[in-house]
Amino acid sequence: MREGLSPTAPKREGLNMEAYANAQLLFDTIKSFRSIRDNHRLRKLAKVVGLNVPFPPDPSIHQLEHFINNLVGKSFGNFEANFMAAQEIQGLLNDFGLRITCPNAHCRKPATLHCTKATRGKNGKYVFVHSQAGRQTHHGGYVALPENITLVPAAARKKRSPTESSRAGRG
Ligand SMILES: [Zn+2]
Repeated sequence: MREGLSPTAPKREGLNMEAYANAQLLFDTIKSFRSIRDNHRLRKLAKVVGLNVPFPPDPSIHQLEHFINNLVGKSFGNFEANFMAAQEIQGLLNDFGLRITCPNAHCRKPATLHCTKATRGKNGKYVFVHSQAGRQTHHGGYVALPENITLVPAAARKKRSPTESSRAGRG
């Protein structure tokens, strides 16, 4: 602290502290995603092999939304970090059969989240991918995760039939 006497030092230190706080936040959030996913998968395994092992209950869609919203408005300092953030969020959603509502106000379709290497902006951009009029569409290009992430079930448009779930089970 005492050494930072040059005029630019306080500003730089402020940025470093913010970056550190964001890094810590991302790490802790992903760590909790991981334990949620482990519990979810292990419970599934216990069930299919017929073991009666106690697990904490799965979080609700609302609770998952809340976890993900901890990360909105943030960028994590480099492309790899933003890429991993998107990948971990999408992994969680895949495990729970969920999608993110596309934040494009005119769209709002259930979408998957990706971070792509942008031509401009070395830290990558968050994009929301879904189909639109039968074509794969990308909406977004956000440097930080957009606010008010909402989640929807992935198969909301389809009614699940017994045939469908047995087919899904084999695949
Ligand atoms: Zn969209």
